[in-house]
Amino acid sequence: MKLNELIVTNPYLNLPSACYDKSVATPLTNPHLIHANTNVAKVLNIDTEEIETDTFVNLLNSEYSLEGSDIFSMCYAGHQFGHFVPRLGDGRVINIGTIGTYHLQLKGAGETLYSRHGDGRAVLRSSIREYLLSEAMQALSIPTTLCLGLIGSEHDVRRESIEKAAIVCRVSTSWVRFGTFEYFASQGMKDELKALADYVIEESFAHISGKEDKYTRLFNDVVVITARLMAQWMSVGFNHGVMNTDNMSIAGLTIDYGPYAFLDDFKHDYVCNHTDEQGRYSFENQPSVAKWNLERLMMALTPLTTIDKMQKALMMYDKIYTRYFHYYMCKKLGFEGTMEGDPELIDDMFDMLELLHVDYTLFMRTLSHYEGEREALLSTGLYHEPMNLWLDRYDTRTENLDKIERKKQMLTSNPKYVLKNYMLEEAIDAAESGDYSMVDDLFTIAKKPFDEHVTFERWSKATPQEFKNQRLSCSS
Ligand code: AMP
Ligand code: MG
Repeated sequence: MKLNELIVTNPYLNLPSACYDKSVATPLTNPHLIHANTNVAKVLNIDTEEIETDTFVNLLNSEYSLEGSDIFSMCYAGHQFGHFVPRLGDGRVINIGTIGTYHLQLKGAGETLYSRHGDGRAVLRSSIREYLLSEAMQALSIPTTLCLGLIGSEHDVRRESIEKAAIVCRVSTSWVRFGTFEYFASQGMKDELKALADYVIEESFAHISGKEDKYTRLFNDVVVITARLMAQWMSVGFNHGVMNTDNMSIAGLTIDYGPYAFLDDFKHDYVCNHTDEQGRYSFENQPSVAKWNLERLMMALTPLTTIDKMQKALMMYDKIYTRYFHYYMCKKLGFEGTMEGDPELIDDMFDMLELLHVDYTLFMRTLSHYEGEREALLSTGLYHEPMNLWLDRYDTRTENLDKIERKKQMLTSNPKYVLKNYMLEEAIDAAESGDYSMVDDLFTIAKKPFDEHVTFERWSKATPQEFKNQRLSCSS
């Protein structure tokens, strides 16, 4: 369809008015298209030619509105680094309408009622990061919000230095956060809380709609999908960096990409977020932080169901997480299911990788090609003995497995490419001087991370020493 043929709806506006604020967008000066996502355009039934037009740029810059659009920003609260903030909300996001089950929004579209001290803008740097990573996660089959397009501009914004503002058009089946529930619970607004829960059930958990005890079921489901998401992050080596409850999707999606990182060398206690001095959101803490966040959600839902019932679900979290984690890791290791001894083999592999300073993605991909000849694997580590010992155990575990099947499974479970921060930095540096070719290149590998891409071979190597395990600033 052409953009001028699309008609959007605004189902969130059926909720009580405390859930949102009708915003006004402020366009950027001299916008230009940086990238448009044809995959997402297809999902939205938008003709691919349309995303190359000026109308598309105008749409992202809120100078063109889709028919039926009635723009608004969402209200939410959240626990930030353990402390409750009673009102946050979309401080720089406006929602521009729903197509089918997908809600479109513009991030960086100017100040809203919820901007607090912020300017309502997003810098080019963080917008590129969000744009590329959401596509990468989608291609890794990790639940995520998506991006339809990215525009740059000549609009200056002040951060540590003056930077250019950008806007991403984000797309998701849900934008509701744990913190959305916390807002209404903390305000004592039970009717709004119930309306929100009903809305979320219809939107993301339709299978429990009309069922008995649906709010307990809702919490149960959120426990399961959150545990699964954590298992996927941990198995691929993803560190989100800002797991505040306002950045936790009720639909179990990876949401609000900030100072995230994929592991370079494997490191249990890696912290990607430079401002996270205590390491609250370190790589290894992610599953337990998610549980802490679920507990905040549970407290927020207490007006709708009993804490006893929800606690039962929460008590299952560790078990569910561990099951999923072993499932994904065994897939990556080429096993058919999980056997006795596998959890130890997995844990010992991580310890070995950390001890030998091994690049996680490179190791797993190299292991996918392993057929007994150890040279390539051994060369990924500082010294050989611990890896040889581990590989002896791996050989025993895999000796009766079909070699061809194992390799096939591993090559589709262990990406050759993940978007590490040093790669993103290089693309951002070029983009800041007007060259978007590397954004295009990274998008190509993000979209197909399991393919060989021989022209991009250098990005499948271990991260260069000087760029390993860096921390990123939260400012965006
Ligand atoms: P984030 O760390 O991006 O998840 O944002 C946390 C909260 O701060 C959310 O309520 C955002 O909408 C808000 N926020 C972040 N940056 C800005 C900004 N530049 N202007 C207005 N609000 C912002
Ligand atoms: Mg956020």
